[in-house]
Amino acid sequence: MIQSPASFVPTGTLLSDDIIPPGSPWGKVIPQGKTLRIIDLEGCQAVDFLCYNATDPTERYNAADTIKLQSNVYLSKGTKLYSGLGQVLFTITEDTCGKHDTLGGCCSSEINELRYGKANTPNCRDNFLKILGQFELGRKDIVLNVNFFMNVPINADGGLVISDGISKPGDYVDLYAEMDALAVISNCPQVDNPCNGYNPTPIRAIVWEA
Ligand SMILES: [Zn+2]
Repeated sequence: MIQSPASFVPTGTLLSDDIIPPGSPWGKVIPQGKTLRIIDLEGCQAVDFLCYNATDPTERYNAADTIKLQSNVYLSKGTKLYSGLGQVLFTITEDTCGKHDTLGGCCSSEINELRYGKANTPNCRDNFLKILGQFELGRKDIVLNVNFFMNVPINADGGLVISDGISKPGDYVDLYAEMDALAVISNCPQVDNPCNGYNPTPIRAIVWEA
């Protein structure tokens, strides 16, 4: 079991503090005004993330609107996570890593088989479905997601590749809930590309109020 340094706990009222084991899902409604901190405890660990209006989950994260409204394909401190209805679900209020992806999408059993020739591998889409099922949501509710701590550089010709992670042990992002929002995480189980350094590791999710 990881001994998590107390220094990760922000000042304020602590609402929850969870270690998410490698390859595991997590989900929680974050009330408006509270903050979700996601900590990459050992570094180079992709954290697949979806979010929804908790009151009406048909309103959910929209990667294209998030990109075009802020003229940037990367997410970092100050980025607002927009819904498809022009509302902000979360704002990234702190980010010690500096750059996060929202183009690469999540891994699935089928895509892993196409890319790596392996059937029935653990994957982020199945993790998402485990949590979404608890909220009466399913496969049709999975949209292009955020990949915190995943490094997907884009070259001048538009080329895109999942590359070696750049997050260091203890890097974190803070997500301030602008509305009551369902946050869904898959701590990515991928072992066939560099997004997790070929070795999935635990992360930590803290919810608090400043
Ligand atoms: Zn994954």
